[in-house]
Amino acid sequence: MTRRRDLGTYQMLWDCAYCDTKKLLALDHRHCPGCGSPQDPERRYFPSDEEKVAVEDHQFVGADWQCAACESPNATGAEFCVNCGAGKDEEASVMQRAERSAAAGEAFAEDSVDQAKEEVRAHRRAEREARQAEYEARRAAAGGKAVKGKGGGKSKVLLILGVVVIAILFLMFWKKSATVTVDGHSWTRAINVEQFQSVQASEWCDAMPSDAYRVTQRRERSGTRRVQDGETCRTVQQDQGDGTFKEVEECQPRYREEAVYDQKCYFNVDRWVEARTETASGASLAETPQWPALRLQQTSRRLGAEREGERSERYVVTFRTDGGETHDCAFSEAKWRSFSVGQTLEVKVGGVTGNLRCGSL
Ligand SMILES: [Zn+2]
Ligand SMILES: [Zn+2]
Repeated sequence: MTRRRDLGTYQMLWDCAYCDTKKLLALDHRHCPGCGSPQDPERRYFPSDEEKVAVEDHQFVGADWQCAACESPNATGAEFCVNCGAGKDEEASVMQRAERSAAAGEAFAEDSVDQAKEEVRAHRRAEREARQAEYEARRAAAGGKAVKGKGGGKSKVLLILGVVVIAILFLMFWKKSATVTVDGHSWTRAINVEQFQSVQASEWCDAMPSDAYRVTQRRERSGTRRVQDGETCRTVQQDQGDGTFKEVEECQPRYREEAVYDQKCYFNVDRWVEARTETASGASLAETPQWPALRLQQTSRRLGAEREGERSERYVVTFRTDGGETHDCAFSEAKWRSFSVGQTLEVKVGGVTGNLRCGSL
């Protein structure tokens, strides 16, 4: 969040181009006190800190308008030019100097009539270039229909890209039929065995489980936090276009990262942990699949006790193609039983890879 503080209103300066009188006040001296020439608003510049002349209780009503006949600046309320009496032109507000800023406590760079003129030239140049760019854009839009050939190359590339994508999709999903023979069956049944063990673990102390024991604590860094660390300020000067400028102090909060610490707990807890897997398997349809026999250590809830964990089973049929290749497919137990060795089947295989589509059986 930017904090702004008004530092007052001051007069811009200007130099007379005819008698070379310098540092005239842009609000007070509408004419040169030396030779009477009217002020040229394009020769206004910012004073140094030592030369600043404050304007007390300044009522800002708007930027000056520049007389189309004699180029004199006139207050926004004036209906006629104070210099030559010509009428007000609503469009012609005077050129304003660009806003400038300096870091807090540092002096502004020196300003001068030459810099004011350079800014005016740069401004006119930018205006000219913008007009030129707009003109060219309009001409390109009007002539666009005649040069249609440019877009043709692009659509050709898109067409080729489309064909390639369709070809890839076709090859991915293309399937053909093949005849396979059932070659054999196999099955595996497994049971995980869990053991009640003392496990080492760590947590932030406020999240430690209640059954933890042998607890030790340590202070550890848990993250960082953004804390405000003063402000960064700069002074900004804004030309108001009426012979004055406003000075404002703009401050932005500055932050730094600060480490945050918390209590970390190291402890033991008794938990059921996956310890081993018992497996039974067979390679024919003749023997009925069995779960492995479990010999568990004591079953009471004490350290070293064991219990049955998750069970898993897998039933695989092996198929042989005419070419002699074998492919495995896993099925449910009932489906697995429905195949008999030597049986021939129609099956879909991938058009490119030759892989058997198990789902088609
Ligand atoms: Zn003069
Ligand atoms: Zn005039």
